[in-house]
Amino acid sequence: MSSVAPSVSPRTARPSHAPAPNPWTMALRQLHDTAGRLQLDPAIHARLASCQRELTVHFPVRLDDGTTKIVTGYRIHHSLARGPVKGGLRYAPGVSLDEVRALAMWMTWKSALVGLPYGGAKGAVDCDPKRLSAGELERLTRRFATELSVLVSPDRDIPAPDIGTDARVMAWFMDTYSMHIGHSEPGVVTGKPVSIGGSEGRFEATGRGVALCTRWAAERLAIPLANAAVVVQGFGNVGAVTARLLHEYGCKVVAVSEIKGGIYNPKGIDIRALRLYHQEHGSIADFPGTTPVSNAELLELPCDVLVPAAVEGQITSLNAGRLRCKLIAEGANGPTTPDADSILAERGISIMPDILCNSGGVIVSYFEWVQDLQFFFWAEDEVNERLRHIMGRAFDALWERADMTQQTLRAAALDIAVSRVAEALTVRGLYP
Ligand code: GLU
Repeated sequence: MSSVAPSVSPRTARPSHAPAPNPWTMALRQLHDTAGRLQLDPAIHARLASCQRELTVHFPVRLDDGTTKIVTGYRIHHSLARGPVKGGLRYAPGVSLDEVRALAMWMTWKSALVGLPYGGAKGAVDCDPKRLSAGELERLTRRFATELSVLVSPDRDIPAPDIGTDARVMAWFMDTYSMHIGHSEPGVVTGKPVSIGGSEGRFEATGRGVALCTRWAAERLAIPLANAAVVVQGFGNVGAVTARLLHEYGCKVVAVSEIKGGIYNPKGIDIRALRLYHQEHGSIADFPGTTPVSNAELLELPCDVLVPAAVEGQITSLNAGRLRCKLIAEGANGPTTPDADSILAERGISIMPDILCNSGGVIVSYFEWVQDLQFFFWAEDEVNERLRHIMGRAFDALWERADMTQQTLRAAALDIAVSRVAEALTVRGLYP
């Protein structure tokens, strides 16, 4: 029998005795440290340290067995200073308000860092989408879209996919919104199917961006990518596309994982064959020629590049001292805690920070929104080229600042992003 979300989640690689780092505490600590470096006006700092709007909804979903279940959802707007707010919708068991707050704040920094005219938002529903039938998922999504109608619209708040949601969920969301207003409004969400106004290249965009950032960072750090050993945590949209593209760049992907655990082969895994195996079996477990590893073990495997592409709080003070990589390319949002950041900096391990590294998704979401607003659609080559241009420009500016100020890439990225948002708040002034 399908049911909506019991709450304990196996989503992390953390040993069971270790407390989960609170993402909002992490995000506030990053902001606090950045405010100190920038000598930010305390009034601006205080405004950025809270989310501007937090909507919690409790709503009924009719299950296939005829009963109804009350589920809880959230939509949080961190900052509206730089434009309409943008950010994904996460469906995950046990998702908390603090997790959504942190993810919304990170969206603000991400858009500011790469120069998109957006503020940051995030939404979530506490449910386990894997345990819902297609009908239950559709009813949940349509009701959630209706509950969020007080906030979303193409000129105010534009949701997108995140963990546990996909193009199909975005199609239901767009259809529900459009039914209410009486005409099709593709620009209300991004990450839709191409047939209803989605963008070419959006599905792969986050992984494409992670792969590009990895390549540019490897060049600067003089890590040859040919045969470089890569470990990828997560085989969802981001992890799977990143693994495939890095494999195509000539890297040797030695380990990948999903929620339940991972697989390892120090000689390299054939990622194309793995994708077919995954499609057929619904899991990567027992892929021929590999040995099983736990998610915690996987992070500590020897490699050149480690790509955490699952959830927050995976690299902490408990395991940072044992990582054996040269570069971390953050496909997930918030995979590394501030304490782990300091340990890794001391150990000389570079981190391509999430707010740049995984920004390909929201960049192509921006392209999708622009195409929807203009009813004028671009070819995939054009999308990919513009993505490369925007990310390349942000990457160069970030590297230059980190070099100039002798800071970590994370500190330099936050400095650029937070000062842009602070500037917008300052020039707009305080109302009334
Ligand atoms: N959920 C993605 C992220 O965390 C994409 C957000 C978007 O496209 O708006 O960046």
